[in-house]
Amino acid sequence: PVKAEARNLSFFYNGGHNAVKNVSMPLYENKITALIGPSGCGKSTFLRCFNRMHDLYPGNKYDGQIIMHPDDTNILEKNVDPIEVRMRISMVFQKPNPFPKSIYENVAYGLRVRGETNRRVVDDKVEEALKGAALWNEVKDRLQDLAFNLSGGQQQRLCIARALATDPEIMLFDEPTSALDPIATANIEELMSELRNKLTILVVTHNMQQAARVSDYTAYMYLGELIEHGETDRIFTRP
Ligand code: ADP
Ligand code: ADP
Repeated sequence: PVKAEARNLSFFYNGGHNAVKNVSMPLYENKITALIGPSGCGKSTFLRCFNRMHDLYPGNKYDGQIIMHPDDTNILEKNVDPIEVRMRISMVFQKPNPFPKSIYENVAYGLRVRGETNRRVVDDKVEEALKGAALWNEVKDRLQDLAFNLSGGQQQRLCIARALATDPEIMLFDEPTSALDPIATANIEELMSELRNKLTILVVTHNMQQAARVSDYTAYMYLGELIEHGETDRIFTRP
């Protein structure tokens, strides 16, 4: 089934630049969709529409809809709270960006935002999220250490744990491995494959091999338009 879909989505930066042009695209449940295309074609802009990141700058403008199923909520609607959207659709960025806080507090962050104060509940969730991000064994004895003391690959898995803590339905990855070494990259790719079993993934990558390796569906963007979308096996075997 379709978990979410962009319907005739356009996006204009403050000043008028039309970075996403009338894009309609499904995200299939429990699948990884890779969004590829040349630098500057609008991939990151498109991804950021899914968690209302652009709202942070007044003057930006959306047109069209992003519908989430099964409740059919249009997450771009003005009366839908962006904070709620970010709990359901969480984001992992290119450069690991943990907060200047402990490992524990980084993962607990979303729960705090949600108003969760029960220590047991937060402890359990932090452990579950760190396990989900394949980081628990490496950090369980140092949860109060600053996140910055972790390696780059560990920091990225911490950011994934932070994103997982609110039980999102969709996870967005914006070039999640381009700042990482090959081993950490392989770890993150494996992790995405596992996460697909419990949620829906949209990953932006400029790396065609990565798209072919990890994704079930591939979408190709060019100059703000969606040129092609389909099963990865079909897209990559085309002449
Ligand atoms: P990609 O992720 O495919 O590299 P982006 O989504 O980052 O592409 O950029 C799409 C287009 O929007 C580019 O032309 C870029 O210069 C432009 N752009 C990106 N950010 C802004 C911004 N804050 N204000 C105006 N234009 C922007
Ligand atoms: P990962 O596979 O998580 O990217 P790396 O290959 O970068 O990890 O590093 C391997 C191991 O070295 C890590 O598991 C970590 O314990 C340790 N390490 C690397 N860099 C640091 C650092 N800056 N601080 C603490 N430990 C580090």
